[in-house]
Amino acid sequence: MPIPTELVGSLPRPMKLQEAYQAYDEGKIDFAQLEAEQDKAAEDSIKRLEQTGETYVTDGEQRESSFATYPLTDTLAGTGLADNLAGDGQFFAIFDDGHHRQLPRLTGGPFRYKRFASEFVEKNKATAAKPVKQAVIAPSMLMLLYPLEGEIEGYSREQFLDDLCDEVEKDIRQAFAAGAERVSIDFTEGRLANKNDARNPWTNKDMLQEFIDLNNRVIDRFSAEERRNIGIHTCPGGDCDSVHSKEVPYEKLLSKMFQLNAGYFLIQCASEEDRENVYKLCGQYSREDANGVAQVCFMGVINPLDPEVETPEQVKEQLVSAAKYIPVERLGATDDCGFSPFSRDVKPKHGSPDFARDIAMQKIANRVKGTRLASRSSGPNETSARAIARCSRAGVGRLSAGGRRRAARRRPRRHCDDAARSRVGRRRPIRDHDVGPRRRDLRGGDGGGASRRARRAQRGRSRGLRGERPDPRADRGHGVRRLRPGDGRARAGLLPR
Ligand SMILES: [Zn+2]
Repeated sequence: MPIPTELVGSLPRPMKLQEAYQAYDEGKIDFAQLEAEQDKAAEDSIKRLEQTGETYVTDGEQRESSFATYPLTDTLAGTGLADNLAGDGQFFAIFDDGHHRQLPRLTGGPFRYKRFASEFVEKNKATAAKPVKQAVIAPSMLMLLYPLEGEIEGYSREQFLDDLCDEVEKDIRQAFAAGAERVSIDFTEGRLANKNDARNPWTNKDMLQEFIDLNNRVIDRFSAEERRNIGIHTCPGGDCDSVHSKEVPYEKLLSKMFQLNAGYFLIQCASEEDRENVYKLCGQYSREDANGVAQVCFMGVINPLDPEVETPEQVKEQLVSAAKYIPVERLGATDDCGFSPFSRDVKPKHGSPDFARDIAMQKIANRVKGTRLASRSSGPNETSARAIARCSRAGVGRLSAGGRRRAARRRPRRHCDDAARSRVGRRRPIRDHDVGPRRRDLRGGDGGGASRRARRAQRGRSRGLRGERPDPRADRGHGVRRLRPGDGRARAGLLPR
């Protein structure tokens, strides 16, 4: 059984599109002109994703202000904000590099989406030759639109949550109806819920269980058959190549997250220091039967915040390690996060969003290849895959003579050869091993063109890339324009300060 693989959803927006968003905010172009740029970038995303061999394609969220705000506003600066919202809501997250993202504030009821994700699915279906997936936002994120303390006059918290659940259900159902084969729910606030950041009051309120219960209120409205294709994505954030909650112990989230009755999970893991522990926790807490559906753990094998391209062999090795703890029939591969969840993001560690798009495609192609390698390693059926997991856990030499005979009957010999000594190691000349793991990794991949560029970008020697950097006065290292006095009411909320 091949190991499935799936991307989270977003890709960096080309600089030209980011400039179009800004021009639209400044009233220099109209919405139709912005839309033309969005459509162009979306079509490019789909075509390039299809070339990587990705199972399901997306438009890279090129038409969305962000993964969280697409139902609420046209742009992150607040142009086209939905009714009953003001720009000055609470922080969603404060990132490690110091920038933050803020949500709008609900001012009254009823709460209604201005836009549903099905709109994007319809357009993508018209372009794509491959099956389409769509990411949607969790009710647990949008519940933060309601003020943390007190009630809005004439619109109680309970009324709001009822309306919110209805809108999220509609968002998911309509995405499927428009032709999406998979719908994953972004749940980046899960890990952040245990951060206890004094600067960000909601993270002190122990809201994780509340989040999970609210999300299940929506998920449980779907049949087991539907939930098989409804996923949950978790990560410690991924904006401007920075994170918001990686220091929060992962077990706090993973011990509860699988209470969500979703059929699959897209789980950040590649950038964790102790991946083995993450595999173990996912194996321990994910459920064989979540009200009629087996939970598939798609483990992150690619780090979208790092321009260094993972090789297919590295991807394969991660999956083989994961199979020691997670039953292979419930194992998949993904990226740690979307490649750019917010529309204004110049990907500072990459040097430019256009270069980051090239790198993203290279990384995705290698994830697909590496997953195929791991699938071959894990054999055509579950029995031989379990043998692999045992071999890599114990080392074939440490199995008893009977165990070795049984393992040999269940899977081709090369499985354990792969686990014990990488085929890459045998194929490559010795000198490749002498350059050290980092350089060897960069040399891998598809010809190494993009990897070489990544190396140059990291060393800061690429004149071309420097030339593509946005105006530093506008950027200040966070990749997004900062608020300035007089930016106006609607712009107050959504950009980092
Ligand atoms: Zn994410």
